[in-house]
Amino acid sequence: MDLKGKKVLVVGLAKTGTAVIPFLVGRGARVMGVDEKSRESLESDLKSLEGISCDLEVGHPFPSKIFEQVDLIVVSPGVPLEREPFDRARAKGISIVGELELASRFLKKPILAITGTNGKTTTTTLIGEMLRKSNIRCFVGGNIGNPLIHAIGSESEFDWIVVEVSSFQLESIQTFRPKIAVLLNLAEDHLDRYPSVKEYFGAKLRLFSNQQASDDAVLNGDEPIVLQETSQIPSRKFLFGSQVPSHLALLEAFFRGENIVFRGLQGEETYPLKDFRLVGEHNRSNLMAAIVASRLAGATLPGIIQAYQSFQGLEHRLEYVTTLSGIDFYNDSKATTVDSVLQALRSFERPVLWIAGGKDKGLDYSLLREIVRKRVRKAILMGEAAPRIREEMGPIVSTVLCSSLEEAVVKAYEEAHSGDVVLLSPACSSYDMFKNYEERGDIFKNIVRRLGHPDPRHERGEGSRRVRK
Ligand code: ADP
Repeated sequence: MDLKGKKVLVVGLAKTGTAVIPFLVGRGARVMGVDEKSRESLESDLKSLEGISCDLEVGHPFPSKIFEQVDLIVVSPGVPLEREPFDRARAKGISIVGELELASRFLKKPILAITGTNGKTTTTTLIGEMLRKSNIRCFVGGNIGNPLIHAIGSESEFDWIVVEVSSFQLESIQTFRPKIAVLLNLAEDHLDRYPSVKEYFGAKLRLFSNQQASDDAVLNGDEPIVLQETSQIPSRKFLFGSQVPSHLALLEAFFRGENIVFRGLQGEETYPLKDFRLVGEHNRSNLMAAIVASRLAGATLPGIIQAYQSFQGLEHRLEYVTTLSGIDFYNDSKATTVDSVLQALRSFERPVLWIAGGKDKGLDYSLLREIVRKRVRKAILMGEAAPRIREEMGPIVSTVLCSSLEEAVVKAYEEAHSGDVVLLSPACSSYDMFKNYEERGDIFKNIVRRLGHPDPRHERGEGSRRVRK
């Protein structure tokens, strides 16, 4: 792909767009970047473009005319493609690609790509660690936070490119072809962007669209929807799942007692679950996927075991914070889907004071009813989605609406008994009250820590609101 002298329009100027521009300019393209957001809100990302020769237009609706006057459009994952300016470009035959597609056209090393509704970052990180501990050099990036475009130029330092991919990124691929493609699961998400789950699943399944018979697909054998949707792909399939006798014969990786067994290309191998610290069945499922994928990429058995036994888990994903008066606090701020909350609640066998709510993504909260009935002592709700969650949960469990996260945490602490869990697991995105899920999780942890160390100035007032049960 020759970019020299080409007019390229970059749509969206956050992390991805601003990573792409220096690459394009470096290849001799004439670049214009546009974003409808204000300069102030983009400031931290735009800083990285200082000294780079390009035109930027921000804070206005997209200038439709320009979309028809360029040679190539590079669109950021946050920008939906069903917008009128893109239709104009398509009508003129102008190529529209995302950063994933653009970067992959310049990369020669084999790609191992991970997608799914939940567990992508955890599994991608695990795979990266398993390869590194096996002395396989890998770039780990993509949706995880390090754009793939950064791998270009330093490619000779890597044996594998490990990339987490989202449905938004997959929407704009054309030739992207992972040697190994992992599909962790499919559940309802992003209904604020897609008309229905059909379109959302369709975007995810594009992961396999360019794979051939010599490529590998690592698939969740426990999910009928995954098996059904991938039935026609040409890739070699490797299924992982729990030990359900009826379909055990189909599985290449499964649980046997306290071990994971992988029937790989080198015969049967056993991986002990002992010393894998992450809680929940969903994390054991992620581990199986990571073992299969990294083994296919050449990781060694000892390297894999060493990697997952030393893996501490990631911040904001069922992250243990502290114990106060016998009550365990967990930060699961990254749980922005109903399915991830379901897994979080399933992970505890004790009563849970559940803090949820945030920006509503249009998901079906009723799927949580059964587990909430079993596990939740009280649902403490906040944010835009609180009334709708209350409507779904109201008849099942006691609920309370709070106007801030601080109020919610204090309420949870007041209501909790020794031995209970206070869990922030929102089922919603954070943008109604916070900058992002990281800020929400950090604030949660700070509030919890303050509960443990009340400001002595407020000892008799605000700081000591604890009511012992
Ligand atoms: P993603 O990158 O897909 O958002 P993360 O690894 O960041 O996935 O985890 C996001 C949320 O999903 C966390 O709350 C985590 O506990 C939960 N989670 C992780 N793996 C799974 C899984 N396999 N199924 C359901 N939920 C999961």
